[in-house]
Amino acid sequence: AVPLVIAKSTAQSAKNGLLIKNRTAFENARKITTLVFDKTGTLTVGKFEVSKIVAYDTATDEQEILRLAAALEQNSEHPIATGIIQKVKELEIKIPQARNFNAITGKGIEADVEGKQVKVVSPGYLKENNLTLPDTLEADDASTVVFVVVDGSPLGYIALADTLRPESVEAIQTLHKHDIKSILLTGDNKKVAASVAKKLGMDSFFAEVLPHQKLEKIKELQTKGEYVAMTGDGVNDAPALAQADVGIAVGSGSDIAAETAGIVLVNSNPKDVVNLILFGKATYRKMI
Ligand code: ADP
Ligand code: MG
Repeated sequence: AVPLVIAKSTAQSAKNGLLIKNRTAFENARKITTLVFDKTGTLTVGKFEVSKIVAYDTATDEQEILRLAAALEQNSEHPIATGIIQKVKELEIKIPQARNFNAITGKGIEADVEGKQVKVVSPGYLKENNLTLPDTLEADDASTVVFVVVDGSPLGYIALADTLRPESVEAIQTLHKHDIKSILLTGDNKKVAASVAKKLGMDSFFAEVLPHQKLEKIKELQTKGEYVAMTGDGVNDAPALAQADVGIAVGSGSDIAAETAGIVLVNSNPKDVVNLILFGKATYRKMI
């Protein structure tokens, strides 16, 4: 039989857009020592806005950078894609067709546009492929940056900015009060990750983490004796959510994330995540 305390707590939770799929996951909330957060859409609002466009040579203008990027991004559902498409629509730039679209997992996307091979990729991808990063990038501190690479040469980049959710600082502070560490795990670049972690007072961060590495990071923490909860929304997050002691799928993200996680929160507000864990702790304290 399900103890009454749980039945009542679960019913209460359902009203707040919470689904506890795996009761053990909720019971385990009291043991959590570390909460690993995804960034985009949980700690941040999740809306990227284009803040800067840079073309490397004078023969190319900013509109051309955007136009080529948009050709690829119209096939993507990443928040970066949404931000770029929005800018292109504002400027009323006509988007060309892309063929042979391919996602480079955790690093960007590629396709053929007007007979050229185009990629929109992360700084990490550029480094790995020994394509040099220009110095001007330093100015775009704490921005998410994607490079437009045409036939193997970087043509320029687009910087995008997302904003922190106002609730995030308090959520992290509350965790600290309860002696729970907070860690940021993101595919975004190091500067962005460092800036977010610092502004929120988080204990540490892992940046440029590829989807398959997310799972490894969770395992590493567990090996060090941490009891780990993790939030995530994407298909990419599913294996790590399954590995975490408590996996929390947030927001209206992917069905796969929701299927894998023990707990589903309709809201992706970090305060709800923290409250959920404290609520789990309180519930099981009552039973002992
Ligand atoms: P996260 O979910 O932590 O943001 P992702 O794996 O979704 O991580 O993305 C990691 C990085 O890969 C992004 O910061 C970006 O540099 C690159 N990337 C992913 N998808 C796209 C896309 N559609 N367009 C451009 N870059 C992308
Ligand atoms: Mg994601």
